[in-house]
Amino acid sequence: MKTKAKIWLPYTQMKKIKELPEAISAKGSLIHLKNGKKVIDAISSWWVITLGHCEPSIVKAVQKQAQEMDQVLFANFNHPPAKKLLKELQSILPKKLPYIFFSDNGSTAVESALKMAVQSWKQTKGEAQRNTFISFKNSYHGDTVGAMSVSGRNLFTYPYKKLLFSVVRVKQGTRSSDPVSAYVSDFSEKVKKYHATLAGVIIEPFIQGAGGMIMWPKEALKEICSISKKKGLYLIFDEVMTGFGRTGELFAFQKLGITPDLLCLSKGLTGGFLPLALTVANKTIYDSFLSDEKKLMFFHGHSFTGNPISCVAAAANIKEIKKTKWKKEWSRIESFHQKKIHSLKGHKNLIDIRGCGTIAAMEFRVKNQGYSSSFAEEFSKKAFQRGVFLRPLGNIVYILPPYCTSNKELEQTWSAIEEELNP
Ligand SMILES: *Cc1c(COP(=O)(O)O)cnc(C)c1O
Repeated sequence: MKTKAKIWLPYTQMKKIKELPEAISAKGSLIHLKNGKKVIDAISSWWVITLGHCEPSIVKAVQKQAQEMDQVLFANFNHPPAKKLLKELQSILPKKLPYIFFSDNGSTAVESALKMAVQSWKQTKGEAQRNTFISFKNSYHGDTVGAMSVSGRNLFTYPYKKLLFSVVRVKQGTRSSDPVSAYVSDFSEKVKKYHATLAGVIIEPFIQGAGGMIMWPKEALKEICSISKKKGLYLIFDEVMTGFGRTGELFAFQKLGITPDLLCLSKGLTGGFLPLALTVANKTIYDSFLSDEKKLMFFHGHSFTGNPISCVAAAANIKEIKKTKWKKEWSRIESFHQKKIHSLKGHKNLIDIRGCGTIAAMEFRVKNQGYSSSFAEEFSKKAFQRGVFLRPLGNIVYILPPYCTSNKELEQTWSAIEEELNP
């Protein structure tokens, strides 16, 4: 019998799926639908769109490159798009992080970082026992097996429990009222106990995204980094979400004033245009792979590594996002959020409300909490009817807009939330 091919969607119970709205174009902060309606993309299409949909400078670069060269094997050829991107990256990355390894998405950027850290310990100092990581309870680092292993254990990782390698997991604070010690004390104790086996610590600096838009006090991060450095652990910053302006600085590590040993970037790298990811390493790590022996090289690579079209998209995005204009947009969005946060603080239907840079989040008081509750879906549906695309994480409603989103559109987005808060 012939079966008609069907699409299997990510994070979707296909048994319950109804027909989805059809998006036919996207421009700036808006997604246009086939039925003639439009919605504000208030979560930047899963945190990837930075400047706005179809940013003209990226469109132009991609169109031009598509006619010149589609794809070549990166291990055998250099090419102008990679050179162009390298030049742009040199203008924004710190001097201490000069070595750039390419892959395709956030999960592979994290996988690469984990593999680099473990192999580096083995090859520089002969410390092969340093093969595990310390990570935080509410962290999210991706969906491949290594990235899942260092992420928090929850509903998402449960079916694959047996596949995951063990890590040292630490308790942490989750709400804006939690003191610095809530984020640091368990970490500090566990590092003392396990440091001889640890290759590194992996952190989403300032904002843990998928774990519930948890925003960290700067002091806590500083202390964690200082403890890690003292114990010689590699500091891995997963800036897959926080990179490219979300925290109000180009990178969260700049806001913190600390350069990590490894940096993972993806989502906003091409402005949301095409898949591309980077794992950026310091000299110590890079040098530990240099040898006359082939077996000491880094054993990692993907089919589309360094894809020329993705590279020009990233180069165009960086060229644009460096302009001071965007920093002004980040602070405009931040002030807008802060005013709303201030006015809603203490609302009876909110457990917590918080903001960091261009992101605002609030924890709704709902009967049935957690990702599997129906709150998120129902909320999302009602917001959509009000012209706003939002997708809460369980009972955490958040706004993570493209930077071109106007104050009027921000107002419409907040109103859609406020209507739910005050039914
Ligand atoms: C989204 C995300 C990832 C995974 O990226 P994918 O491109 O979805 O594989 C990793 N880390 C963080 C912090 C993320 O937000």
